[in-house]
Amino acid sequence: MFCPLCEGGFESVTIRMAEGSPRHARRCSQCSGFWFDARGDEGLSPEAVADLDIPQPNYSLRHMALSCPVDQTLLEQADHEAGPTGLKVWSCPDCHGVFYPRGQLALFYKWAGAQGMPTLVAPRTRAALAIMLTVLGGVLSFASVGSSGFQAAVTEPLPGTGPNIVTLVLIILTYLSGTILAVLGRRLPTILMGWAIISICLFGFFVVIFAP
Ligand SMILES: [Zn+2]
Ligand SMILES: [Zn+2]
Repeated sequence: MFCPLCEGGFESVTIRMAEGSPRHARRCSQCSGFWFDARGDEGLSPEAVADLDIPQPNYSLRHMALSCPVDQTLLEQADHEAGPTGLKVWSCPDCHGVFYPRGQLALFYKWAGAQGMPTLVAPRTRAALAIMLTVLGGVLSFASVGSSGFQAAVTEPLPGTGPNIVTLVLIILTYLSGTILAVLGRRLPTILMGWAIISICLFGFFVVIFAP
């Protein structure tokens, strides 16, 4: 496996994650670029990154055709939607590996640290968040079914004005999609959209539960 930028060999480096555990990565011994397997660049400790790389905006690597060192697929320049200026990162559309030329990893983490970006959310925190949101959704669904407002609507022979089973199923499905976006979203706008959907659904649940 060789560096996509300069074809140098990779050396194995260990980078501490924000939550303390070590993460293995590859660094080119010639150009000092970093290669990560899918999502390996997430949740790193900004201090640990700063020990290995010096922030350096790069404006010269604009249109380079780089190939994935794992499967030779043409890498795509990753658009960190709201990244620091001069950030150049490539990712593989096939294996989702990520390449940061020298200076770029530190540049991104320095910027992300200043923004309080959710990229720093570790996988373990995501799992806990997913479980919490799913349990909350389940409890609210049961509470909705048991609520007096919902019962009254179901027993009515004609479609009433109150919430019915279709409404509830729609709220539950929307809530789940919001949870998926909030937990798995990689970019701030996606994550915020997820939370917005969750907020609207929570409101929906409370309307169903406390309906007169
Ligand atoms: Zn290299
Ligand atoms: Zn690949």
